[in-house]
Amino acid sequence: MTSNRTLHTTCAYCGVGCGIQAVVTDAATRQIHIQGDRNHPANFGRLCSKGAALAETLTLHGRLLNPEINGETVSWDAALDLAAETLSATAREHGPESVAFYLSGQLLTEDYYVANKLMKGFIGSANVDTNSRLCMSSSVAGHKRAFGADVVPGCYEDLEQADLIILTGSNTAWCHPILYQRIKAAKQQRPQMKVVVIDPRRTATCDIADLHLPLQPGSDAWLFNGLLAYLARLGALDYEYLEQHTEGFGVAIKAARAAETADIPSVARHCGLKEGEVAAFYDWFRKTPKTVTAYSQGVNQSSSGSDKVNAIINCHLATGRIGQPGMGPLSLTGQPNAMGGREVGGLANQLAAHMDFTSDNVERVGRFWNATRMASQPGLKAVDLFDAVADGRIKAIWIMGTNPVVSMPDADKVAQALSRCENVIISDCIRRTDTTEYANILLPALGWGEKDGTVTNSERRISRQRALLTPPGHAKPDWWIISAVAQRMGFGAAFNYRNSRDIFIEHAALSGFENTPEQTLRAFDISALEILTDAEYDALEPIQWPVNAATPQGAARLFQDGGYYSPSRKALLSPITPQPPRGKLDENYSFALNTGRIRDQWHTMTRTALAPQLNAHISEPYCDMHPQDAERLGFEQNDLVRIRSRHGVMIARAHITDEQAPGQLFVPMHWTAQYSAVGRVGALVNPVTDPYSGQPESKHTPVALERFEAA
Ligand code: SF4
Repeated sequence: MTSNRTLHTTCAYCGVGCGIQAVVTDAATRQIHIQGDRNHPANFGRLCSKGAALAETLTLHGRLLNPEINGETVSWDAALDLAAETLSATAREHGPESVAFYLSGQLLTEDYYVANKLMKGFIGSANVDTNSRLCMSSSVAGHKRAFGADVVPGCYEDLEQADLIILTGSNTAWCHPILYQRIKAAKQQRPQMKVVVIDPRRTATCDIADLHLPLQPGSDAWLFNGLLAYLARLGALDYEYLEQHTEGFGVAIKAARAAETADIPSVARHCGLKEGEVAAFYDWFRKTPKTVTAYSQGVNQSSSGSDKVNAIINCHLATGRIGQPGMGPLSLTGQPNAMGGREVGGLANQLAAHMDFTSDNVERVGRFWNATRMASQPGLKAVDLFDAVADGRIKAIWIMGTNPVVSMPDADKVAQALSRCENVIISDCIRRTDTTEYANILLPALGWGEKDGTVTNSERRISRQRALLTPPGHAKPDWWIISAVAQRMGFGAAFNYRNSRDIFIEHAALSGFENTPEQTLRAFDISALEILTDAEYDALEPIQWPVNAATPQGAARLFQDGGYYSPSRKALLSPITPQPPRGKLDENYSFALNTGRIRDQWHTMTRTALAPQLNAHISEPYCDMHPQDAERLGFEQNDLVRIRSRHGVMIARAHITDEQAPGQLFVPMHWTAQYSAVGRVGALVNPVTDPYSGQPESKHTPVALERFEAA
């Protein structure tokens, strides 16, 4: 590579999916200069602190650069042979269900596609799940229930065109910073725009809030059920839209009118809010057609997350506020390619191209792939999958680009499970994570800035990630590693890819394969892109799916004239019976622990901890607590405290703040045994899950809070 090349790529971090203009100033020493891509529709030149620091994270320090078997450096041939033999022999001796893949929202769509194809089409199991299960699977379940498919109806531009923005379960300022900046800029230009923040904590996002509703954790569905009942009471529904484009209103409104949501005092009591706050929110919603409700992990990470999503969507469907500029529900995905993973079946309960496991779909995909052993039913979702590793049902697992020993709930159990599993294959770009220590086989993968492919952001926009630097050491693209293993397992013809473009066009072709209205209604369709040449794929501009004959330039919004993806082409309102968090507080575990991100770190810090300026923001694990709780327990600011749940324990620095409600704690999710000797919060988190989505309740674990006395 020559110096001073300029390339356009996409950020490595959150689901906003910002475009980056990168200038390679010295390829030999991996020096690049980064700035926001002014032409990228996600960010128009802006970057947040994490994106702006990406150049500082390109060091080779700590990189996995060679294949290893049991800690010894080996050749690629030796590592691939053993990985293939391990998977083949395990499936042969114990059945396909004894093998599993655990993927990551950091993988590119092409990597995800090939992994999913190998497992579901050739090994014959659907035990392929992803860390995206932990962040957005409740939105997937909610979308499918309401729209008949997992689709986001609107786009980021709606946030600038709305007159009312409701941010619920989202510290947008820290977790989706560029969307926050776009909202803030729009609000400055149009002061009539109102922002409501619904969050038990008073976060940085509240800086732009006209109204902050600090509701009781887990009470979101009561609030939105109450809103639906309120709108019906005041005749503020769009009955024409309901009649023409929806089903299920009768049962949904009946559920919404239950005693606890029948009137504003009941809602306020149940949600722990003031009646005036609830009344103002409901009144603004009623009077503001252009309303966007953006939601994220505070809604999704719940044992009833799917119901909360549907309670929100019900209000938009009942008022016809969907599919038009400046209005609609908007799920904010956490990871850079959580959406791309969903497109290719990265979730154990989806097949590919958003197809479910119906017998028709299984047959069709199997035929398209020339699959030798097609999985016919959904596999295990993340928590169940690692439970199956723990009890020995899964005997070989391949983990790609993620760190479940930190990020999974009940994370100590995950560590124990991997320590007992005899066949742990890990492909990653980092040599030492809390998870890689359990690997028998380590496979070096390319990292951001080296790999090449596509990602999809929260508004369905497909963007290219491009290679800026030459591959270091012996590291290879994830799709290459998976294909090489597949070929050694005897599936060569189906995995004979030259590059990521070959995979992308196969993926695009599958999205439109036999997709006629008579046969099926497939939401994810990018079949117009299946003819891209190498050069066209390389030059692909950001585009929002669907990209097909009807919308060859992509589509900013869906459902402008109804036309949902259910058999009746109507959207479905669901009857929601709100449920409290499954983890109950008691005298031994009397605090509700909430977990989440901070502004300047990403996931388990394997990349962001390499940037000194990002570490300067917050340098160690902390525990937010209310002054009343601190005083009652005798804690001073910065004391070390022990947080204990039924599952695990960690130490953190007390941070006493009235931004936290009494009885509730907040601990960031990022620190690992690598960066702190005091434990990781995932070990505390209750592994209960939503029955539809399988998403864990990472926002509400009963814990005890104690003084830490050093031994
Ligand atoms: Fe990257 Fe997200 Fe920041 Fe954009 S908002 S620069 S995608 S971390």
